[in-house]
Amino acid sequence: MKTIATPTKVWLSSPHMGGEELKYVHEAFDTNWVAPLGPNVDAFEKAIESELGNGAHVAALSSGTAAIHLGLKLLGVGPGDEVLCQSFTFSASANPILYLGASPVFVDSETDTWNISPALLREAILDRIQNAKKPKAIIAVHLYGMPYKIEEIRSIADEFEIPVLEDSAEALGSSYKGTACGSFGDIGILSFNGNKIITTSGGGALVTKDRSLRDKAIFLATQARDDAPHYQHSHVGYNYRMSNVLAGIGRGQMEVLGERVSARRSNYEYYRNNLYSYKDISFLPEPKECFSNRWLSCILTSSYEMREQLRMALLDENIESRPLWKPLHMQPIFDGYEQFMDGTSETLFNKGLCLPSGSNLTQHDLERVLAVIKNVLA
Ligand SMILES: *Cc1c(COP(=O)(O)O)cnc(C)c1O
Repeated sequence: MKTIATPTKVWLSSPHMGGEELKYVHEAFDTNWVAPLGPNVDAFEKAIESELGNGAHVAALSSGTAAIHLGLKLLGVGPGDEVLCQSFTFSASANPILYLGASPVFVDSETDTWNISPALLREAILDRIQNAKKPKAIIAVHLYGMPYKIEEIRSIADEFEIPVLEDSAEALGSSYKGTACGSFGDIGILSFNGNKIITTSGGGALVTKDRSLRDKAIFLATQARDDAPHYQHSHVGYNYRMSNVLAGIGRGQMEVLGERVSARRSNYEYYRNNLYSYKDISFLPEPKECFSNRWLSCILTSSYEMREQLRMALLDENIESRPLWKPLHMQPIFDGYEQFMDGTSETLFNKGLCLPSGSNLTQHDLERVLAVIKNVLA
């Protein structure tokens, strides 16, 4: 009997170890620093701080979601408050608003960066001030690694005195005017989940220029123990710190971050150089002064049907691709919250596709992806 072998799977974005990770993990075992905290956590935080520069202080945490939760809490978000949030993002950007008993107010994207629209943000703020109360925070996201409109968002935030939580989960290695993403918000957050540009298998970080805010984050993340010989608590605490074993993986990954960014950017270049002339496909160029890590290579197709045709054809060849994020205002869990939309994110969702983007893709993998796409477009 003749069998047709399934081609090997090409993943959207899979972990890519650099080589030194195990050395640091072994160090943790050899010194019995297997418990949370220890030298790997300290060194990992230092490595991120020097990567980000711009006066950033870093607290390594168990996830990016935990970092958003603590970040919003530190910005004073509580029950009954409203938080402005980019709708075009992953649900983890907004879930912590609900953890805190607050309500999201969703804001649509603009087309230059696919991130939160300054015009709609302003409209939302004015509306909420007039019809409810001033929102407590703005969550802006560097989606797929592309910096949001840093200066416009900052000037609106300053004008209305609303702090920014900068969701940089997808943007480690990206920058704006040479300054690293993650360091622009009143509080920034990073993620080291398995699919991100570097990973600790699971993890995240909170970033702030305010040293005392970092100390407060760590206090809350370690069960909020008062200064006493016994266990004494005057605040609700969380168990959100990163483990010293996983921080060892992070130390090794930080050593190859630059290479990972270059590899992801060259995936994007490969797709763009080979597909830009097709009228059914378009790309999001880097606006002036923006440097994207191109975490995922995204294309916009001419229609929903074309997008689905491409996605299914790739799947037939065992190649993973994925529609762009489904906007949160369209998600059942966030049904009924205030929203300020102009249709941009819904269109992106309907027509957009993320192509395989891992830093570990081979030339052969990229050629396989390209051949399928060209075949559909022909
Ligand atoms: C991955 C991600 C998060 C959550 O990070 P975790 O470490 O997975 O909890 C938050 N926001 C965005 C935009 C993300 O992509």
